[in-house]
Amino acid sequence: MNRKVIILLLILTVRAATAYAWLYPEHREITLKAIVKLDSGRRFLFEQLWNSARKGKEGRLTIGAIDPGQIGLPTLLDYTAWPAIAGDHSTSSENMMYNILQTEWILKVADIAARLQNGLDEARNQSERVNRMRDSDIKLLRADPEYVSRAGGNNGHFLMALPDVNITAPEYFAKCFEKGCELNTIGIYTWFHISAIRKAACLHSQRLTSEQRSAYALSALADEAFALHFLEDSFTSGHIAGIWGDASQRKGTHDYYNEKGLEITTWQGVRMVLMGDAYMRPEDADHAAEAVLKSLTQFLDAAAGKMDETMFPAPCSFAAPDTFNVSKAKYMPLREVQEGELQLCREILLLTPIPGLATGWGELPRFRSELGPFIGIASAVRGGWYNGGFADYQTTSGVVAGLELALRLGLGMEGVLNESGDGLVFLDLGWRIDGASSMRFDDEPAIKNFGAFSAAIPSRDAYFLRLRMPFFLIPGDILIAGPILYLTSPKTFNKMVVAAGNGGLIPWQSGIRTPIGRFQFVIGREVGICMYGTGNGPDAFLMTVDQDTKDQAVFSLYTTQFDFPILEYRPMRNFSSGQSASLVFQFYGGFDIPGKRTSVYPSDYPLPDVKTTWFAGLRMSFDWRYYFSGRKNSPTR
Ligand SMILES: [Zn+2]
Repeated sequence: MNRKVIILLLILTVRAATAYAWLYPEHREITLKAIVKLDSGRRFLFEQLWNSARKGKEGRLTIGAIDPGQIGLPTLLDYTAWPAIAGDHSTSSENMMYNILQTEWILKVADIAARLQNGLDEARNQSERVNRMRDSDIKLLRADPEYVSRAGGNNGHFLMALPDVNITAPEYFAKCFEKGCELNTIGIYTWFHISAIRKAACLHSQRLTSEQRSAYALSALADEAFALHFLEDSFTSGHIAGIWGDASQRKGTHDYYNEKGLEITTWQGVRMVLMGDAYMRPEDADHAAEAVLKSLTQFLDAAAGKMDETMFPAPCSFAAPDTFNVSKAKYMPLREVQEGELQLCREILLLTPIPGLATGWGELPRFRSELGPFIGIASAVRGGWYNGGFADYQTTSGVVAGLELALRLGLGMEGVLNESGDGLVFLDLGWRIDGASSMRFDDEPAIKNFGAFSAAIPSRDAYFLRLRMPFFLIPGDILIAGPILYLTSPKTFNKMVVAAGNGGLIPWQSGIRTPIGRFQFVIGREVGICMYGTGNGPDAFLMTVDQDTKDQAVFSLYTTQFDFPILEYRPMRNFSSGQSASLVFQFYGGFDIPGKRTSVYPSDYPLPDVKTTWFAGLRMSFDWRYYFSGRKNSPTR
């Protein structure tokens, strides 16, 4: 494989590993739950602010701040959509407002999200949920091509791991916000919430024209929505637990705790179990909504002038949404804030969960996902039905069984977006041995008594290559078009590889999860090439050379066999902490082409006519993989 392609695939896997936390509909649900709990006075003020912000944007924003019944293709967006768009479909508060007000694709995103919500509500079991999320992810990628790359190479949607059990809440919050700290949910929330309350306070303290008022209201609401996204993310189990290790560990740990949940204690000492993104239960939404409600309350009190105004820097100078780009930055930048503002944030952050400890004694168990470069061993048992032997006259079909052993070098992009994806790329270098065929070299009844000695295809061994790679439209296209595309249009390349991992342009190769395991069509993704005769020299075949006299002779023959897995079945995936092992059943088909032939005994016999044989069969493969871990993103103590 081209080295450049490998490096690119690597970059991509690491990128894709950064997960966004709650899904769009989950964010909406949390925000909605919080808004409806506002007391009537604040709720009234909230609607007033919304009205003011909506001036001139009536074509895009709903009449009321919330519109819970959004189904089908929406033409208007309500406030609960804003925190869902923040972070995942935009990079800053400013960029979020641009996308909400100026783009058409954002409506498609909202539509896909609404359909996903309906789909998840109607899903009868976990497998259906997973399949619906897969469909939704594929659609999201089309509507918003930057969806995957936007998460960037940072941990913005994760909580910073706890450096020490003795750290106090104020110390931890300060650490998350200080300059140079890796981006994290608490730091980003603090940043945008301060921006929001400052602007909200200006609404009360300044004499504003109606236009200025509208601009302040819009930008204050935008900053608060952007902040809320990250406050909400602080309540997903996979993001409380999933920050350590290399890309493969981060993704695996994230997936594990999202699905299995985590027992946590908030900084206030309340204990609870939280589930993660895509697995949110009503009680998880309630816990997150409680913090969101408190944040909104504070925001509205600032707008109502109920706060000590000396707390905020004067004078009010910017009536535009915040521009801090959380997709581009890796570390928290320096920001001058007042102690009083930090105190306000602390009051809300006390409701958030205490994250897991950083690497060291007492750390939470972590898990791997199929991500990054690996080395492994693959073994397989196979049994196939052949339509005949190699000699032209050998038309009786039969069975051949075989064993394989291979060294596997690969790169995992598994679950590029979720576990329905398959981004496995590998090359096997192996050796296989086949038993003698069940059909004989001649149909003569007497010959049957000779056992394996009289097989049409003798027991043979071969070296083989096996290559697997997802494709976009036609098999192998990534290998060929990838390097060119990367140089000319990296974004297109990115999109192509992610789409390939998720089942291709026409996603007929997406994994289908069922209660008994995962099925996937894999035609064109994988090919095995077996070279018979390359190990111990060509194999000797006994053939009848004259059908009348039944004269027999021995010939040697090289053959090359191609097999193509068609349908694949994997029992449920399990989470492992170090190496990964898996069992796969493949239905395959293929052909075996005869090559150079020589007469062996008698040595001067004319060479027989030969033909290609066809076969189909079942292969059970067990493989063990060791993923190389770099441990580069591990916070240590
Ligand atoms: Zn997020």
